[in-house]
Amino acid sequence: MAVSDAELLDHARAAAHSAYAPYSDFPVGAALLLEDGRIVTGCNVENASYGLTICAERTAAGRMIAEREEARTAGERPRIIAAAVVGLKAAPCHPCGACRQVLGEFSCDRVIVEGSSGDPVSISFTDLLPHAFGPDAL
Ligand SMILES: [Zn+2]
Repeated sequence: MAVSDAELLDHARAAAHSAYAPYSDFPVGAALLLEDGRIVTGCNVENASYGLTICAERTAAGRMIAEREEARTAGERPRIIAAAVVGLKAAPCHPCGACRQVLGEFSCDRVIVEGSSGDPVSISFTDLLPHAFGPDAL
């Protein structure tokens, strides 16, 4: 059964409530819809060093790889159909540049954020990160 953009945002919003964000108090959640229909979520995980903070999108991407059900060859890449991002204190909450690069690694088609009214806003990934550097460039 297809997942709507609003439902994917709901998954991201739920994940944001797990955020570890004691320094910024800016909880963010992400939900990745994968080609096989799975949804993998993540939240931001901050660090006292600040620089080692990991965004929700990259936490989700790490889980996507680490929690695959079947053993895979090292070079096999899952494909992200859509990535929803919710900041509990900001809408829209767009992915940062680092996260755009990581989402691009897995051929993300589009990103869904909350508009100012809370409705889903779908953004083509090529609009978010034009001329991206990716596996095809190597
Ligand atoms: Zn980020």
